[in-house]
Amino acid sequence: MTIRKHIKDFIPEMNEWRHYIHENPEIAYEEHNTSDFIAAKLTEFNIEVHRGLGGTGIVGVIHGKDNGASKKSLGIRADIDALPMTEKTNLTYSSKNDGKMHACGHDGHTTMLLGAAKYLSKTKNFLGTVYCIFQPAEEGGNAGAKSMIKDGLFSKFNIDSVWGIHNWPGVPVGQAVIHEGFAMAGGDIIVITIEGKGGHAAQPQFSNDPIVSAGLTITALQSCISRQLNPFDQSVLSLTKIEGGSAFNVIPDKVTIGGTLRSTNTDTRNDMLEKIKHAAQGACAINNCSVNIEVRPGYPSTINDKKSAKFASIVFENSFGINSINKEEKPTMTSEDFSYMLHEKPGAYIWLGAGEKSEKLHSAHYDFNDELLPIGAEYWASLAEKTLE
Ligand SMILES: [Zn+2]
Ligand SMILES: [Zn+2]
Repeated sequence: MTIRKHIKDFIPEMNEWRHYIHENPEIAYEEHNTSDFIAAKLTEFNIEVHRGLGGTGIVGVIHGKDNGASKKSLGIRADIDALPMTEKTNLTYSSKNDGKMHACGHDGHTTMLLGAAKYLSKTKNFLGTVYCIFQPAEEGGNAGAKSMIKDGLFSKFNIDSVWGIHNWPGVPVGQAVIHEGFAMAGGDIIVITIEGKGGHAAQPQFSNDPIVSAGLTITALQSCISRQLNPFDQSVLSLTKIEGGSAFNVIPDKVTIGGTLRSTNTDTRNDMLEKIKHAAQGACAINNCSVNIEVRPGYPSTINDKKSAKFASIVFENSFGINSINKEEKPTMTSEDFSYMLHEKPGAYIWLGAGEKSEKLHSAHYDFNDELLPIGAEYWASLAEKTLE
Protein backbone atom coordinates (compact mmCIF):
# COMPACT_ATOMS: atom_id res chain seq x y z
CA MET A 1 0.00 0.00 0.00
CA THR A 2 1.45 3.38 -0.99
CA ILE A 3 1.92 6.28 1.41
CA ARG A 4 -0.81 8.15 -0.48
CA LYS A 5 -3.36 5.37 0.05
CA HIS A 6 -2.60 5.20 3.78
CA ILE A 7 -2.81 8.96 4.18
CA LYS A 8 -6.03 9.10 2.15
CA ASP A 9 -7.68 7.08 4.90
CA PHE A 10 -6.69 9.75 7.44
CA ILE A 11 -8.18 12.68 5.49
CA PRO A 12 -11.53 12.89 7.33
CA GLU A 13 -9.85 12.83 10.75
CA MET A 14 -7.12 15.26 9.65
CA ASN A 15 -9.87 17.69 8.60
CA GLU A 16 -11.46 17.28 12.04
CA TRP A 17 -8.18 17.90 13.89
CA ARG A 18 -7.44 20.95 11.78
CA HIS A 19 -10.86 22.47 12.38
CA TYR A 20 -10.63 21.74 16.10
CA ILE A 21 -7.24 23.47 16.35
CA HIS A 22 -8.53 26.35 14.22
CA GLU A 23 -11.50 26.80 16.51
CA ASN A 24 -9.29 26.87 19.62
CA PRO A 25 -6.35 29.11 18.72
CA GLU A 26 -3.73 29.97 21.32
CA ILE A 27 -0.90 32.48 20.98
CA ALA A 28 2.82 32.28 21.79
CA TYR A 29 3.68 30.08 24.79
CA GLU A 30 0.00 29.84 25.76
CA GLU A 31 -0.66 26.81 23.54
CA HIS A 32 -1.62 24.61 26.52
CA ASN A 33 -4.79 23.14 25.08
CA THR A 34 -3.16 22.69 21.65
CA SER A 35 -0.19 21.01 23.29
CA ASP A 36 -2.50 18.68 25.27
CA PHE A 37 -4.34 17.84 22.05
CA ILE A 38 -1.10 17.01 20.20
CA ALA A 39 0.24 14.93 23.11
CA ALA A 40 -3.03 12.99 23.32
CA LYS A 41 -2.96 12.26 19.58
CA LEU A 42 0.67 11.13 19.65
CA THR A 43 -0.05 8.87 22.64
CA GLU A 44 -3.02 7.43 20.78
CA PHE A 45 -0.63 6.63 17.87
CA ASN A 46 1.76 4.84 20.32
CA ILE A 47 4.39 7.54 19.95
CA GLU A 48 6.80 8.41 22.77
CA VAL A 49 5.97 11.97 23.93
CA HIS A 50 8.38 14.50 25.46
CA ARG A 51 6.79 17.70 26.72
CA GLY A 52 7.94 21.00 28.16
CA LEU A 53 10.56 21.98 25.57
CA GLY A 54 10.19 25.72 25.13
CA GLY A 55 7.22 25.60 27.52
CA THR A 56 4.43 24.17 25.41
CA GLY A 57 6.63 22.47 22.80
CA ILE A 58 6.52 18.73 22.21
CA VAL A 59 8.83 16.17 20.65
CA GLY A 60 7.30 12.89 19.46
CA VAL A 61 9.83 10.10 18.97
CA ILE A 62 9.11 7.35 16.44
CA HIS A 63 11.57 4.48 16.06
CA GLY A 64 11.66 2.60 12.76
CA LYS A 65 11.44 -1.10 12.01
CA ASP A 66 14.96 -1.60 13.49
CA ASN A 67 13.61 -0.08 16.72
CA GLY A 68 15.98 2.83 16.25
CA ALA A 69 19.14 0.65 16.12
CA SER A 70 20.42 2.64 13.15
CA LYS A 71 21.64 5.95 14.51
CA LYS A 72 20.21 7.82 11.52
CA SER A 73 17.50 10.35 12.26
CA LEU A 74 15.65 13.44 11.15
CA GLY A 75 13.52 16.11 12.81
CA ILE A 76 10.35 17.36 11.15
CA ARG A 77 8.87 20.51 12.58
CA ALA A 78 5.49 22.19 12.73
CA ASP A 79 4.69 25.50 14.39
CA ILE A 80 1.57 25.40 16.58
CA ASP A 81 0.78 28.99 17.61
CA ALA A 82 -1.90 31.43 16.46
CA LEU A 83 -1.91 35.23 16.12
CA PRO A 84 -3.36 37.92 18.39
CA MET A 85 -6.03 39.13 15.94
CA THR A 86 -9.77 38.85 15.39
CA GLU A 87 -11.04 36.35 12.84
CA LYS A 88 -13.53 37.54 10.22
CA THR A 89 -14.09 34.35 8.21
CA ASN A 90 -17.58 33.36 9.47
CA LEU A 91 -16.55 29.72 9.18
CA THR A 92 -18.50 27.15 11.18
CA TYR A 93 -15.21 26.41 12.96
CA SER A 94 -14.21 30.08 13.46
CA SER A 95 -12.09 31.02 16.47
CA LYS A 96 -13.85 30.63 19.81
CA ASN A 97 -11.07 32.60 21.54
CA ASP A 98 -11.65 36.33 21.21
CA GLY A 99 -8.78 38.24 19.63
CA LYS A 100 -6.92 35.06 18.66
CA MET A 101 -6.82 33.44 15.27
CA HIS A 102 -4.99 30.84 13.22
CA ALA A 103 -4.31 33.28 10.37
CA CYS A 104 -0.96 31.81 9.33
CA GLY A 105 -2.03 28.18 8.89
CA HIS A 106 -0.12 26.74 11.83
CA ASP A 107 -3.29 24.72 12.55
CA GLY A 108 -2.70 23.06 9.17
CA HIS A 109 1.04 22.61 9.75
CA THR A 110 0.33 20.90 13.07
CA THR A 111 -2.26 18.63 11.46
CA MET A 112 0.00 17.63 8.54
CA LEU A 113 2.68 16.58 11.00
CA LEU A 114 0.16 14.67 13.11
CA GLY A 115 -1.02 12.86 9.96
CA ALA A 116 2.55 11.94 9.02
CA ALA A 117 3.27 10.85 12.61
CA LYS A 118 0.26 8.55 12.59
CA TYR A 119 1.39 6.99 9.29
CA LEU A 120 5.06 6.63 10.32
CA SER A 121 4.19 5.07 13.65
CA LYS A 122 1.77 2.64 12.04
CA THR A 123 4.01 1.51 9.17
CA LYS A 124 7.55 2.00 10.56
CA ASN A 125 8.90 1.61 7.06
CA PHE A 126 12.28 3.20 7.88
CA LEU A 127 15.51 2.62 9.81
CA GLY A 128 16.47 4.90 12.68
CA THR A 129 14.36 7.56 14.36
CA VAL A 130 11.94 10.29 13.33
CA TYR A 131 11.55 13.22 15.71
CA CYS A 132 8.29 15.13 15.30
CA ILE A 133 8.88 18.64 16.61
CA PHE A 134 5.78 20.66 17.56
CA GLN A 135 7.09 24.15 18.18
CA PRO A 136 5.34 26.99 20.04
CA ALA A 137 5.61 30.75 19.52
CA GLU A 138 6.78 31.19 15.95
CA GLU A 139 4.90 34.47 15.55
CA GLY A 140 5.75 37.94 16.78
CA GLY A 141 9.44 37.57 17.53
CA ASN A 142 8.85 35.16 20.41
CA ALA A 143 11.28 32.58 18.96
CA GLY A 144 9.82 29.29 20.15
CA ALA A 145 12.45 27.53 18.04
CA LYS A 146 15.18 29.18 20.09
CA SER A 147 13.41 28.23 23.34
CA MET A 148 13.17 24.58 22.29
CA ILE A 149 16.87 24.54 21.39
CA LYS A 150 17.68 26.13 24.76
CA ASP A 151 15.65 23.41 26.49
CA GLY A 152 17.68 20.67 24.85
CA LEU A 153 16.09 19.92 21.49
CA PHE A 154 19.47 19.05 19.98
CA SER A 155 21.27 17.94 23.14
CA LYS A 156 18.60 15.58 24.49
CA PHE A 157 17.73 14.19 21.07
CA ASN A 158 20.14 12.96 18.44
CA ILE A 159 18.64 14.84 15.48
CA ASP A 160 20.75 14.77 12.28
CA SER A 161 18.75 17.21 10.16
CA VAL A 162 15.71 19.50 10.44
CA TRP A 163 12.89 20.14 8.00
CA GLY A 164 10.05 22.63 7.90
CA ILE A 165 6.94 23.48 5.83
CA HIS A 166 4.93 26.66 5.47
CA ASN A 167 1.79 26.89 3.37
CA TRP A 168 2.14 29.58 0.71
CA PRO A 169 -0.87 31.42 -0.73
CA GLY A 170 -0.48 32.33 -4.41
CA VAL A 171 1.45 29.20 -5.36
CA PRO A 172 -0.78 26.50 -6.94
CA VAL A 173 -1.83 23.53 -4.80
CA GLY A 174 0.38 20.52 -5.55
CA GLN A 175 3.47 22.66 -6.03
CA ALA A 176 6.29 23.48 -3.66
CA VAL A 177 8.89 26.24 -3.59
CA ILE A 178 12.26 25.02 -2.32
CA HIS A 179 15.05 27.59 -2.28
CA GLU A 180 18.59 26.30 -2.53
CA GLY A 181 20.09 28.72 -0.05
CA PHE A 182 18.45 31.95 1.05
CA ALA A 183 14.70 31.60 1.62
CA MET A 184 13.59 34.22 4.12
CA ALA A 185 15.11 37.36 5.59
CA GLY A 186 16.50 38.15 8.97
CA GLY A 187 14.67 41.03 10.63
CA ASP A 188 15.70 43.50 13.31
CA ILE A 189 13.68 46.25 14.93
CA ILE A 190 15.44 49.61 15.04
CA VAL A 191 14.53 52.41 17.43
CA ILE A 192 16.25 55.73 16.79
CA THR A 193 16.03 58.28 19.61
CA ILE A 194 17.01 61.82 18.70
CA GLU A 195 17.49 64.30 21.52
CA GLY A 196 17.89 68.02 21.13
CA LYS A 197 16.87 71.02 23.16
CA GLY A 198 13.26 72.10 23.14
CA GLY A 199 11.95 75.63 23.28
CA HIS A 200 9.63 78.23 21.79
CA ALA A 201 8.67 77.59 18.18
CA ALA A 202 9.24 81.27 17.43
CA GLN A 203 12.77 81.29 18.90
CA PRO A 204 14.54 78.37 17.21
CA GLN A 205 17.94 79.97 17.80
CA PHE A 206 17.73 78.84 21.46
CA SER A 207 16.91 75.23 20.55
CA ASN A 208 18.42 72.21 18.87
CA ASP A 209 15.42 71.00 16.94
CA PRO A 210 15.11 67.19 16.99
CA ILE A 211 12.25 67.31 14.45
CA VAL A 212 14.56 68.75 11.81
CA SER A 213 17.19 66.15 12.76
CA ALA A 214 14.56 63.43 12.43
CA GLY A 215 13.74 64.66 8.92
CA LEU A 216 17.40 64.73 7.94
CA THR A 217 17.92 61.29 9.47
CA ILE A 218 15.03 59.76 7.54
CA THR A 219 16.40 61.23 4.31
CA ALA A 220 19.98 60.19 5.10
CA LEU A 221 18.94 56.61 5.86
CA GLN A 222 17.45 56.28 2.39
CA SER A 223 20.98 56.38 1.00
CA CYS A 224 22.21 53.39 3.05
CA ILE A 225 20.61 50.78 0.83
CA SER A 226 20.34 52.70 -2.43
CA ARG A 227 23.89 54.13 -2.41
CA GLN A 228 26.00 52.10 0.01
CA LEU A 229 24.94 48.49 -0.46
CA ASN A 230 26.34 46.36 -3.25
CA PRO A 231 23.46 46.12 -5.77
CA PHE A 232 23.89 42.34 -5.79
CA ASP A 233 23.17 42.14 -2.05
CA GLN A 234 19.70 42.70 -0.66
CA SER A 235 18.31 44.53 2.31
CA VAL A 236 15.17 46.49 3.14
CA LEU A 237 14.91 49.33 5.62
CA SER A 238 11.41 50.59 6.38
CA LEU A 239 10.84 53.35 8.89
CA THR A 240 7.33 52.80 10.12
CA LYS A 241 6.88 54.92 13.23
CA ILE A 242 7.67 58.47 14.24
CA GLU A 243 6.79 60.16 17.50
CA GLY A 244 7.58 63.57 18.90
CA GLY A 245 6.09 66.90 19.87
CA SER A 246 2.96 67.89 21.76
CA ALA A 247 2.05 71.41 20.66
CA PHE A 248 2.06 73.61 17.57
CA ASN A 249 4.22 76.27 19.19
CA VAL A 250 6.76 74.14 21.10
CA ILE A 251 9.92 72.60 19.73
CA PRO A 252 10.16 69.23 21.50
CA ASP A 253 13.22 67.78 23.25
CA LYS A 254 12.97 64.37 21.68
CA VAL A 255 11.79 62.47 18.61
CA THR A 256 11.81 58.70 18.17
CA ILE A 257 11.76 56.90 14.86
CA GLY A 258 11.11 53.17 14.61
CA GLY A 259 11.38 50.68 11.81
CA THR A 260 12.72 47.38 10.66
CA LEU A 261 15.79 46.23 8.80
CA ARG A 262 15.49 43.03 6.79
CA SER A 263 18.57 41.38 5.35
CA THR A 264 19.55 38.21 3.55
CA ASN A 265 22.64 37.33 5.54
CA THR A 266 24.51 38.27 8.71
CA ASP A 267 27.35 40.15 6.98
CA THR A 268 24.95 42.43 5.11
CA ARG A 269 22.93 42.94 8.28
CA ASN A 270 25.93 43.97 10.37
CA ASP A 271 27.25 46.18 7.60
CA MET A 272 23.89 47.94 7.17
CA LEU A 273 23.49 48.49 10.92
CA GLU A 274 26.87 50.23 10.97
CA LYS A 275 25.94 52.39 7.99
CA ILE A 276 22.58 53.30 9.55
CA LYS A 277 24.33 54.43 12.74
CA HIS A 278 26.88 56.44 10.81
CA ALA A 279 24.25 58.16 8.61
CA ALA A 280 22.01 59.00 11.58
CA GLN A 281 24.91 60.42 13.59
CA GLY A 282 25.96 62.56 10.63
CA ALA A 283 22.43 63.83 10.04
CA CYS A 284 21.88 64.71 13.70
CA ALA A 285 25.27 66.41 14.05
CA ILE A 286 24.15 69.08 11.57
CA ASN A 287 22.08 70.85 14.23
CA ASN A 288 23.70 69.50 17.37
CA CYS A 289 21.22 66.81 18.32
CA SER A 290 22.35 63.54 19.83
CA VAL A 291 21.18 60.21 18.51
CA ASN A 292 20.95 56.75 20.01
CA ILE A 293 20.15 53.69 17.94
CA GLU A 294 18.74 50.67 19.70
CA VAL A 295 18.72 47.43 17.73
CA ARG A 296 16.29 44.79 18.93
CA PRO A 297 17.55 41.67 17.20
CA GLY A 298 14.91 39.59 15.44
CA TYR A 299 15.06 36.22 13.72
CA PRO A 300 18.16 35.54 11.62
CA SER A 301 17.75 34.83 7.90
CA THR A 302 16.45 31.41 6.90
CA ILE A 303 19.05 29.74 4.73
CA ASN A 304 18.45 26.23 3.42
CA ASP A 305 21.32 23.81 3.19
CA LYS A 306 21.80 23.40 -0.60
CA LYS A 307 22.18 19.61 -0.52
CA SER A 308 19.12 19.23 1.70
CA ALA A 309 17.08 21.57 -0.52
CA LYS A 310 18.00 19.50 -3.60
CA PHE A 311 17.07 16.32 -1.74
CA ALA A 312 13.73 17.80 -0.64
CA SER A 313 13.00 18.75 -4.28
CA ILE A 314 13.71 15.20 -5.44
CA VAL A 315 11.46 13.74 -2.74
CA PHE A 316 8.68 16.19 -3.60
CA GLU A 317 8.97 15.58 -7.35
CA ASN A 318 8.95 11.81 -6.85
CA SER A 319 5.62 12.15 -5.07
CA PHE A 320 3.94 14.97 -6.96
CA GLY A 321 5.48 14.97 -10.44
CA ILE A 322 8.38 16.62 -12.24
CA ASN A 323 6.62 19.94 -12.66
CA SER A 324 5.70 20.20 -9.01
CA ILE A 325 8.63 22.40 -8.00
CA ASN A 326 7.76 26.04 -8.59
CA LYS A 327 10.90 27.87 -9.65
CA GLU A 328 9.19 31.23 -10.23
CA GLU A 329 8.51 32.23 -6.65
CA LYS A 330 11.22 34.48 -5.24
CA PRO A 331 12.48 34.38 -1.64
CA THR A 332 10.76 36.78 0.74
CA MET A 333 11.79 39.49 3.18
CA THR A 334 9.48 38.11 5.87
CA SER A 335 11.17 36.22 8.72
CA GLU A 336 10.83 32.78 10.26
CA ASP A 337 12.28 31.36 13.47
CA PHE A 338 12.98 27.96 11.89
CA SER A 339 16.19 29.80 10.98
CA TYR A 340 17.47 29.03 14.50
CA MET A 341 17.08 25.30 13.87
CA LEU A 342 18.74 25.57 10.44
CA HIS A 343 21.58 27.35 12.16
CA GLU A 344 22.21 24.20 14.22
CA LYS A 345 21.48 21.42 11.74
CA PRO A 346 21.31 20.99 7.96
CA GLY A 347 17.88 20.84 6.41
CA ALA A 348 15.37 22.74 4.30
CA TYR A 349 12.26 24.82 4.79
CA ILE A 350 9.78 24.52 1.97
CA TRP A 351 6.71 26.47 0.93
CA LEU A 352 3.73 24.39 0.03
CA GLY A 353 1.42 25.98 -2.53
CA ALA A 354 -1.88 26.96 -0.87
CA GLY A 355 -3.53 27.98 -4.14
CA GLU A 356 -4.10 31.21 -6.05
CA LYS A 357 -7.46 31.75 -4.35
CA SER A 358 -6.16 31.51 -0.79
CA GLU A 359 -6.33 34.68 1.27
CA LYS A 360 -2.89 35.97 2.19
CA LEU A 361 -1.21 34.96 5.45
CA HIS A 362 -2.18 37.09 8.47
CA SER A 363 -5.43 38.25 6.82
CA ALA A 364 -8.49 38.20 9.09
CA HIS A 365 -10.24 36.31 6.24
CA TYR A 366 -7.54 33.65 5.84
CA ASP A 367 -8.24 29.95 6.36
CA PHE A 368 -5.75 27.12 5.81
CA ASN A 369 -6.56 25.19 2.64
CA ASP A 370 -7.46 21.63 3.72
CA GLU A 371 -6.45 20.25 0.31
CA LEU A 372 -2.89 20.59 1.57
CA LEU A 373 -3.31 18.25 4.52
CA PRO A 374 -2.69 14.98 2.62
CA ILE A 375 -0.01 16.65 0.45
CA GLY A 376 1.99 17.86 3.43
CA ALA A 377 1.57 14.60 5.34
CA GLU A 378 2.68 12.59 2.29
CA TYR A 379 5.71 14.81 1.76
CA TRP A 380 6.72 14.37 5.42
CA ALA A 381 6.26 10.61 5.25
CA SER A 382 8.22 10.30 1.97
CA LEU A 383 10.98 12.57 3.25
CA ALA A 384 11.35 10.45 6.41
CA GLU A 385 11.36 7.16 4.51
CA LYS A 386 13.83 8.39 1.85
CA THR A 387 16.16 9.93 4.46
CA LEU A 388 16.08 6.83 6.63
CA GLU A 389 16.20 4.09 3.97
ZN1 LIG B 1 2.75 34.13 10.40
ZN1 LIG C 1 3.43 31.12 9.81
